[in-house]
Amino acid sequence: MIVSEAVAQLDPALWQFSSVAARRGWFKRLPNGVVGTRVVQDACIFLNRPGFVTGAGCALHFASLDRGERPMDGKPNICWQFPLRRADHVNEAGVDVITIGAWQASDWKADGGERSWFCTTAPEAFIAADPVWRTLADELKEITGPEVYELLVVALTA
Ligand code: SF4
Repeated sequence: MIVSEAVAQLDPALWQFSSVAARRGWFKRLPNGVVGTRVVQDACIFLNRPGFVTGAGCALHFASLDRGERPMDGKPNICWQFPLRRADHVNEAGVDVITIGAWQASDWKADGGERSWFCTTAPEAFIAADPVWRTLADELKEITGPEVYELLVVALTA
């Protein structure tokens, strides 16, 4: 589902800033031409804040759960992929190469912002009982395709 479809289905009761979106729109074109979600009170327009009826978190995420769907199916790509980072390039042989790693704060230096992300920088983020290839299996399959994911599983469990 593309984001505009998810927004069209979004129940205003699950979206704190739905009235702002109705007045001003939910997206905005950035100076570099990229379309991003509108910023409201210093954060994404879809971010419900503490004290809202849903609790704090992404309205699109809540709406997907409410419909019994995967949150990743109703959110912008960069949101459901995070903290996985897909990078595409063409190697010396002219072959398309896709790598998947973890976003680092330094990857976002271009916008001049300072960031520190618990999920990719704190040691506690790397002590889960289950490995990422299991807990983020849906995300990895979506990014790489199921065949490549199966190859990854074979390589990691051999
Ligand atoms: S997950 Fe994405 S769409 Fe949802 S609140 Fe965060 S930045 Fe906005």
